[in-house]
Amino acid sequence: MPVYDTIVIGSGPAGLTAAIYATRANLKTLVVAGAVAGGQLMITTDVENYPGFPEGIMGPELMEKWRKQAERFKADFVDDNVSRVDFSKRPFRIWVTDTVYEGKTVIVATGANAKYLGLPNEERLKGRGVSACATCDGFFFKSLDVVVVGGGDTAMEESLYLSKLCKTVTIVHRRDAFRASKIMQDRVMRTANIKVVWNHEVVDVLGEPHVEGVRIRGIKKGATTDLPARGLFLAIGHTPATEVFAGQLRMERGYILLKPHDGFSTATTVDGVFAAGDVHDFRYRQAVTAAGFGTMAALDAERWLQAHAG
Ligand code: NAP
Repeated sequence: MPVYDTIVIGSGPAGLTAAIYATRANLKTLVVAGAVAGGQLMITTDVENYPGFPEGIMGPELMEKWRKQAERFKADFVDDNVSRVDFSKRPFRIWVTDTVYEGKTVIVATGANAKYLGLPNEERLKGRGVSACATCDGFFFKSLDVVVVGGGDTAMEESLYLSKLCKTVTIVHRRDAFRASKIMQDRVMRTANIKVVWNHEVVDVLGEPHVEGVRIRGIKKGATTDLPARGLFLAIGHTPATEVFAGQLRMERGYILLKPHDGFSTATTVDGVFAAGDVHDFRYRQAVTAAGFGTMAALDAERWLQAHAG
């Protein structure tokens, strides 16, 4: 088994872009793509904000092209999950079931998944009005009524974004106070077409074949009401896919903590291990920013290898 120059873990926009840049820089590259390869775009329908596709493109098709581009430059692929890593000494070791792979550098690009409420009709209507990304999908709800669930900064940001496109935005929050920063709350409260329904939870999503409303239930009295809406945006947090790195890399709220030094912007707390995309970036979370981080991580790995050659 060769010692790879770099092992990329993850095959979403960040991982595959890192692989394209690494292989084109002549680094022997392995991509551990995951059992369910391709990242969040695999569950996205129309992608209209990825540059270079004036007519838009379906998420899975975009990821298929992206992967072919990485394969063209001869990255090796393993379509399975990493079960264990050892970053305590170099070369770094990565287990995929019983096989151990060794890398001089590692690029962690395992991403994060949006949390959903777990309602059966929510799953059925994903991509048909149910979304967890206003920046991605808000445009499809121009001049329509939408509901946002959540009370954190993401819910405020998504609501403000949607308020510029949609007719009305109704935030449904399970408590009587937001946890979002005061400044974001103030902006929301000052926006004429945003209203808040406090102390309620969404218990069902209505409509066939697309969202036509949501059923909400009062936390205190349990009474249900149906709110007409064409979109339901979940903003109840994300879960970064970092479990396997516990005890190996420093994290903050589950996200990998970057420790930039000496011009290595994507460095983690382990020298020679870099991170790219939503696995560390809870702020921008876009395919194009993840791709940018993937580029940065590959360039960092390449420079790091040069500095540690011999
Ligand atoms: P968050 O702060 O964890 O907020 C999640 C919200 O969703 C909370 O209000 C929570 O309600 C609600 N929630 C969670 N599970 C729910 C469920 N099952 N049903 C209904 N509601 C549920 O997540 P976030 O807003 O994504 O923010 C994550 C981090 O990124 C935060 O530290 C945030 O400050 C940061 N961030 C910053 C910015 C910015 O600075 N502009 C933008 C975005 C995010 P409760 O309040 O009742 O728990």
